[in-house]
Amino acid sequence: MLIGAHVSTQGGILTAFDRAQAIGAEAVQIHATAPQSWRQLELSPETVAEFRDRMAATGLDAFFLHAVYLINLATAREDLLEKSEGSLRHYLELANLLGARGVIFHPGSHKGLGFDQVLEQLGAAMGRALLAAPGESLLLIENSAGAGDNVGSSFNQIRRMMEAVDSDRVRLCLDTAHAFTAGYDLASAEGLAAMVEELEREIGTSRLAAIHANDSKAPLGSNRDRHENIGDGFIGAEGFRRLLAEPRLTGAPLLLEVPGLEGKGPDRANVERLRELAGLPPLPG
Ligand SMILES: [Zn+2]
Ligand SMILES: [Zn+2]
Repeated sequence: MLIGAHVSTQGGILTAFDRAQAIGAEAVQIHATAPQSWRQLELSPETVAEFRDRMAATGLDAFFLHAVYLINLATAREDLLEKSEGSLRHYLELANLLGARGVIFHPGSHKGLGFDQVLEQLGAAMGRALLAAPGESLLLIENSAGAGDNVGSSFNQIRRMMEAVDSDRVRLCLDTAHAFTAGYDLASAEGLAAMVEELEREIGTSRLAAIHANDSKAPLGSNRDRHENIGDGFIGAEGFRRLLAEPRLTGAPLLLEVPGLEGKGPDRANVERLRELAGLPPLPG
């Protein structure tokens, strides 16, 4: 089991390794570019080489890029769809270049059109981005909380999106806080069992490639996206203890996206909480 976190790359992408090590993260997620901007990242061959060296030296190869938040593959606006597809392609190219495992992204909102109306467009756009960025990097669809007509709040929708793409590089990133407010009751043993059973039936846990381990500040079924520190939210410590004991889930690296005890993002304290709930030894030092 790998327990890690989203870390900042302020000062450049190479800073991710020091930040991950400082909080005891064994898996890493970064935004390669500012998440509210379309700006693309130009990497020098030296930076790429150094990045790959640091990855090899630290063993932090469970490394993921989180795509920008502006992406919407479910939009009716052609200019936005084009930009979104270009941004996704850019991120997949970056992941290939850096040796990252994959790109995690939010598929977007249909803004009232309905999921069925946008499904084909979604699949085609993902397929074109993957085709234009050939390589090993995976494309991970992150489940949504279901707010604002966001697609992908159920495993059924995500399975249909996966089927609409002609590629074997598409995987699932399961965000526990989003799943909870979308209606999967991870706070109870029965709710967890039902979620895992549904995930197995619709998608298959073998296609689960990452977990965003977040407690929820918003209640079950509220469709609100508010992350909380592990054990302090509605999923709670016992919810995470049961989840971490489920081997069909924990084969995937866990990445914290929590506010942190000091409000500065994922921290060592939350890594320690997950480790303790998973029955892992505490971090050294
Ligand atoms: Zn996300
Ligand atoms: Zn997430």
